[in-house]
Amino acid sequence: MALEQFSQTLSSPRMEYDYDIAIVGGGIVGLTLACALKDSGLRVVLIEAKPHSVAAKKGQAYAVHLLSGWIFDGIGVWDKILPQIATCRQVCLSDADYPDVVEFQLSDLGTEALVYVAEHQALLTPLQDLLQECPNVSYLCPVEVVKTQYEPDGVEIALLIGTKSRTIRTRLLVAADGARSRIRTWAGIKTRGWQYWQSCIVAFVKPEKPHNDTAYERFWPSGPFAILPLPGNRCRIVWTAPHEEAKALVALDDERFLAELNRRYGDQMGQLELEGDRFIFSVQLMQSDHYVVPRLALIGDAAHCCHPVGGQGLNMGIRDAAALAQVLQSAHESGEDIGNLQVLKRYERWRKQENLTILGFTDFLDRIFSNNWLPLVVVRRLGLWMLQRVRPLKIFALKLMTGLGGRPPQLAQRILD
Ligand SMILES: Cc1cc2nc3c(=O)[nH]c(=O)nc-3n(C[C@H](O)[C@H](O)[C@H](O)COP(=O)(O)OP(=O)(O)OC[C@H]3O[C@@H](n4cnc5c(N)ncnc54)[C@H](O)[C@@H]3O)c2cc1C
Repeated sequence: MALEQFSQTLSSPRMEYDYDIAIVGGGIVGLTLACALKDSGLRVVLIEAKPHSVAAKKGQAYAVHLLSGWIFDGIGVWDKILPQIATCRQVCLSDADYPDVVEFQLSDLGTEALVYVAEHQALLTPLQDLLQECPNVSYLCPVEVVKTQYEPDGVEIALLIGTKSRTIRTRLLVAADGARSRIRTWAGIKTRGWQYWQSCIVAFVKPEKPHNDTAYERFWPSGPFAILPLPGNRCRIVWTAPHEEAKALVALDDERFLAELNRRYGDQMGQLELEGDRFIFSVQLMQSDHYVVPRLALIGDAAHCCHPVGGQGLNMGIRDAAALAQVLQSAHESGEDIGNLQVLKRYERWRKQENLTILGFTDFLDRIFSNNWLPLVVVRRLGLWMLQRVRPLKIFALKLMTGLGGRPPQLAQRILD
């Protein structure tokens, strides 16, 4: 249902429930859940505060894991996404300027890619387009959720539509409203974690030589530095450094910034040319104490955040969305109340521990490499040496990094069978 049609129903008589599921947050994670529920028989509403044009312009790019691609394939959007993104055929890991490099190749997994790299819009737009074809999903945008009230059998949600207010009632509320989730805070769910001593600089560059679909992750004592291939021989830089250093780096003029960049990444692709602005992000590790309480489930950054090393955050959120859709659909099919805590706990048991493992892994990587203590330098270089030569270790690390280590959702099953 379009927003105009929805506004016309403002004065229509209230049903017991307006929707079975209300998803707050139309980022990639919220959209993935809404699309994954398209054949569930459940009445779904997706509520996003930012207008379409603003949401699509987010200058972000992501490493997208194989499992996320298979989930998008199961949803039916992968054929629209794939032509617009880069397929990474080689990933190189190295410790600062130590010459021993770990090279992950396609033959290590026997798959068509090791990882994909996608700009925000390349993922967002196909998901938004698919929603327009889902009769059971209403997409309210730009509409802001301003208040929630929990009752034993449902949730009342106060909406702000321009200058008008409206209340809707749902059996289940899903928070996909990002790291600063107000839905999580209003529900009184506490979080644990910390801000890192580092900030992250992101930028797009155009290299002189072809990037050859290769991603590089170089671990410097100041923080990890990644350069990811994009279509059109462009690249995405994700550069972590202590706060003050990061602030000083983004403040440099283009020429000096590029000189610093060249020092960090080496000269594999020749000279780099900057494309557009550079941005700086704070970096945190966060895990919510609960992913579910009666009538509420958290997914994506609303539930957890991690260090950008290894490009895990969005991928975890996509897996949350696929897992929650599966749990809700099967509960609905067996006649259970989808907002009941017993049902929602199945999702929490599935995802919380798996996400915690990834949070621990990214934290471990950042701490062990962002360090110049000699015994640790020796141990990690030995670790990289073994990673390159001991095949089972290499495959294990690759599976962990590409999301293949955990329990796959049924949406990805077509590929896995
Ligand atoms: C520098 C950096 C690099 C990264 N690189 C990668 C990577 O390579 N790979 C990867 O997997 N992850 C990466 N991540 C992590 C990734 O960006 C996040 O995990 C992901 O964007 C979270 O998506 P989300 O949909 O959960 O939240 P968001 O993208 O934050 O979406 C939340 C949405 O909710 C809406 N909203 C909020 N409140 C309300 C409200 N009250 N009413 C209505 N709508 C509301 C917002 O407008 C927003 O659109 C990176 C992060 C950083 C900082």
